[in-house]
Amino acid sequence: MEPYGPPQGPDPDPPRPNFLPVSSQPPDPPTPRPPIKHSSIAAILFLFSVLGLVIAGAYFSGDLQQFLYGSSATQSQQPRPGLVPFGQRQDPLPGREEADAPLGTPAPVNRPSSSYKFLAVKDDGSPLAYSPCRPIHYVVNSDLASASWQPLVDEAVRRASVATGLKFIFDGPSSEVPSTNRAGYQPARYGDRWAPVLIAWSTPEQVPRLTGQTVGLGGSSSIGLSNGYKAYVTGTVSLDAPQFAGIVDTPNGQEIGVAVIMHELGHLLGLDHVDDPRQLMYDQASWVRDYAAGDRTGLARLGTGPCSKDF
Ligand SMILES: [Zn+2]
Repeated sequence: MEPYGPPQGPDPDPPRPNFLPVSSQPPDPPTPRPPIKHSSIAAILFLFSVLGLVIAGAYFSGDLQQFLYGSSATQSQQPRPGLVPFGQRQDPLPGREEADAPLGTPAPVNRPSSSYKFLAVKDDGSPLAYSPCRPIHYVVNSDLASASWQPLVDEAVRRASVATGLKFIFDGPSSEVPSTNRAGYQPARYGDRWAPVLIAWSTPEQVPRLTGQTVGLGGSSSIGLSNGYKAYVTGTVSLDAPQFAGIVDTPNGQEIGVAVIMHELGHLLGLDHVDDPRQLMYDQASWVRDYAAGDRTGLARLGTGPCSKDF
């Protein structure tokens, strides 16, 4: 039986594919980020958001393949240095590429829905998000990807950009391997800026959280300024290369592959799972292959966060 089936269009309650019950796995508890020592003028909190898990199951050519989407990160706080010379700082100089106004606006949501959830909400009730006034740079480690990876990433990023209004810039390939303790500032590799978002095909050996049914992980890390401003600065999408290859080799597999990346980008941008099979951020297999009304409503809010030149 084919997984996911044809798109169900606007049907508010699309049929579900057959799949066996899959075990549920709660997110791992946050683990502390290794302490980073530096002097500070302005104190900044550095947070690693913890993302949830999704389990999805579906039949492929009679064989059950179960997909678990999820993510992980750690949370910690760190002070921030002042204008220490490049090479001695542990954060980039603030304000890089931060414009005076948002670089784009989210696509209008024709039928707003409350079926979305944020991974983190600030004290004022607004979601933790990327600054819309600066582009989100990303790199791709495709060493373990199939040859057809780029159109899938391009399309997933394009749709995430449309839904949020956030601007993405592809900086090219990277050999960086995903890590739960990934540094947000890697000047030797990426220069004097926040490390770009890393989209990487990986393995359970490299990323233990991909063991078993997990096909993808996504999440972002954030800073918090002493004035209360908080924003994501970088993040990671990890894809289980063998499982992903199995997905895209099936009929409609390219479309499903795009949906998997879009789901993880949803986490990256700040969306949590919802218990609603009509949404792409549902935590189990469904027919949904594009952001739905709830996803889009949430992503539109995530695209209108506050700007700041102070990080
Ligand atoms: Zn997920």
